Amino acid sequence: MPLNILIVGCSIAGPALASFLQLAPFPHNERPEITVLERATSVRNQGQNVDIRGVGVALLQKLGIEHAVKTSTTGEAGVQWVTSAGKVWAELGSANDGETGRHNPTSDIEILRGRMAQILWRRSQTITDDSAVEYIFGDHLDGIEQDHTANTVTVHFAKSGKKRTFDLVVGADGLQSTTRSMVWGSKHEAECVHPLNMYAAFFSMPRDEAAGDSEYRRCYHTHGRRLMSIRPDQQNNRSTSLLTVINDKDARLGDVATGHGKAVVAAQKELVQEYFADAGWQAPRLMREMVATDDFYYSMVAQVKMASWHRRRVVLLGDAAHCASHLSGMGTTLALLGAYSLASALAKHSKDVDTALSTYEVEMRPHVDKAQKLMPGMLRVLSPETAWGVWLVDTTIRFLVWSRVFLLLFYFKGPDTEPDGLPEDGFTLPPVYKE
Ligand SMILES: Cc1cc2nc3c(=O)[nH]c(=O)nc-3n(C[C@H](O)[C@H](O)[C@H](O)COP(=O)(O)OP(=O)(O)OC[C@H]3O[C@@H](n4cnc5c(N)ncnc54)[C@H](O)[C@@H]3O)c2cc1C
Repeated sequence: MPLNILIVGCSIAGPALASFLQLAPFPHNERPEITVLERATSVRNQGQNVDIRGVGVALLQKLGIEHAVKTSTTGEAGVQWVTSAGKVWAELGSANDGETGRHNPTSDIEILRGRMAQILWRRSQTITDDSAVEYIFGDHLDGIEQDHTANTVTVHFAKSGKKRTFDLVVGADGLQSTTRSMVWGSKHEAECVHPLNMYAAFFSMPRDEAAGDSEYRRCYHTHGRRLMSIRPDQQNNRSTSLLTVINDKDARLGDVATGHGKAVVAAQKELVQEYFADAGWQAPRLMREMVATDDFYYSMVAQVKMASWHRRRVVLLGDAAHCASHLSGMGTTLALLGAYSLASALAKHSKDVDTALSTYEVEMRPHVDKAQKLMPGMLRVLSPETAWGVWLVDTTIRFLVWSRVFLLLFYFKGPDTEPDGLPEDGFTLPPVYKE
């Protein structure tokens, strides 16, 4: 009997798994039945740049979406640091080595998260002629019960009120996964989510060349551990903004990060305004655009560290299992690799799901461990508390960029981007995806 699999979350990991399950070499008549559930009413078109590095590029090829992704990049040419008057005082170009090695902060596959999720979702529906992935949008689970004798999972859908039974439930529902909290419990949540005391807001806005918007990412940091950046989105002829603050005292920053709906977003915007209205540089413009935008996304920055990613017939994938944070630059590559690895293990051990899940964990663990190692002290050092600290950091960055030592730091301590080869795996190569 084919496995009947529910994937919770339709962002990066979820639809990637739906595709890889269709391409993996399952025995004849055992190709799984796949349902994907997403809380939002459509694939969410929010978020800033995500990088795809190293082995991630090989995985794009396996999905037949390399061309679609490479023609959808934001076109970022590099990073510039600016003064409050907008004057550039340091600059680094992009690495242009997406397939071959380690990077500086801009890699050559920088794509907006929402665009990447759209490509993956559409791909999963066109990957095989008889593609039959069932998608459910605008609902979520409020109950998960495991039957240890039958080895099944019965779930309850909060909105439709339906109950359905699956052989395997995959939680691909991100950093604040409710699949994880329902199955592992709230005490475990507090242990496995490691906040980095950083909070981030992302949104897009009209491109304004008169305000200096260009093909470069411009970064401005100021006292109070606040960082603002404006980045290009050449696809949509817009600009995107990322604002971050590090703070371990104000509990409101974490409180507003949980929950959904218009009131939550309004509270998030209000708090971000409180923190950034007086930050200098383009703060007035950014605050104005933030209020107007409808693609605002706010999140705490955290890592998820768990001893095991599966509990009987529920398994976690992507950020839900092992969020490395946007600081790692590896979240999307890990989500793709995890989807590939899980599909591969399920195909190899289609009659022994326990072994498949253990195999997935053993394969993924070293990649996750590497990606979660951030440059020690990087966060606090790069986001100073005082004006004197800002001067010191600026002077140091200036020296590191001028002397090219910055690139060495990224070489030794940056994200691991070695393009490790993928094994001979018998996966079907799909036709190239065209939109
Ligand atoms: C809106 C958004 C914006 C982001 N912006 C950035 C960014 O700017 N830069 C960056 O580096 N990373 C960003 N990320 C995180 C990035 O997408 C992930 O690090 C990475 O790509 C791994 O993806 P994932 O699929 O595991 O998790 P995620 O991308 O977090 O996706 C989780 C998905 O599950 C859905 N979901 C959540 N709860 C439920 C539920 N209970 N039931 C059903 N569905 C649920 C969410 O709506 C989402 O579609 C963002 C994530 C989201 C959701």
